[in-house]
Amino acid sequence: MSTIIRCSSLSHYSDCTRRAAAKMFFKEISEEYGFDLTLVNTSAGAAVGTAMHKALEAAIVLRSKGLPYSDEIKKVAETSILETVREGIVWDDTTFDKATGVMQAVRQTHSILDVMPDLQEIAIEGEFTADLGDDFILSGHIDIRGREGELNTIQDFKSGTTARVNIPQYGGYSLLTRTAGYKVDLLREIYAKRVGKTKAQPAPVIKDYEPAMAENFAWAVIKKIKSDMQTFRKTGSPWVWLPNPNSMMCSPHYCPAYGTKFCKCRSLKKGENNG
Ligand code: SF4
Repeated sequence: MSTIIRCSSLSHYSDCTRRAAAKMFFKEISEEYGFDLTLVNTSAGAAVGTAMHKALEAAIVLRSKGLPYSDEIKKVAETSILETVREGIVWDDTTFDKATGVMQAVRQTHSILDVMPDLQEIAIEGEFTADLGDDFILSGHIDIRGREGELNTIQDFKSGTTARVNIPQYGGYSLLTRTAGYKVDLLREIYAKRVGKTKAQPAPVIKDYEPAMAENFAWAVIKKIKSDMQTFRKTGSPWVWLPNPNSMMCSPHYCPAYGTKFCKCRSLKKGENNG
């Protein structure tokens, strides 16, 4: 079976390559190599982000047809957060219950719609894929493609308590889109900050990136992921992947490798060794 590399994994790879591998290749590493990785629940931040994405996709379609969309935003956000809560969620200090998550997703969605210009020829796409050779596939879900004046744009929505830099992810989208035969002139991120419910929603931050630079960045990460996985298949050693115990995400809440045989960097007990 082909090995999938998702564009959304590219930007996190260098933060802790071992955690990224445990997440990306969870099934193979645990089932074929016998490492005791643990499933982690969705974080509250990711849950709000997913709800916001779904609400935005619905609202943008309605807005492009001149139809009202406020009620739909609330409905879609509620359904999405409820789904994640049922599957298992890790609350945090900013989003500590369902009602807060829905409220944040709704107001973040409105804040993005307030600054996002109307696009022409909007396409809300499903998955794009491209063959990377050696039985590896690049895959990505692009939020919105659309034309703004003369520019063919890819628009990606982000949320979170802290803005991150996601250039490799967008470079991956650009590669996928161009492989599918479409033109790309501009990569745009619209970021809505996730803030506590007593604070006012800040205005979104828009960042534009040039496709050629982002594609180069994406290629560098893709090549590294491929070669690291190929080396792991030859050696079976987790030390193919450099761990980063100083990562902000080095926690049993966010890392499937935490405290397992795959990575004991943060949890050595007396008498244990780190493999
Ligand atoms: S436990 Fe920490 S260092 Fe080890 S893989 Fe997870 S995030 Fe990286």
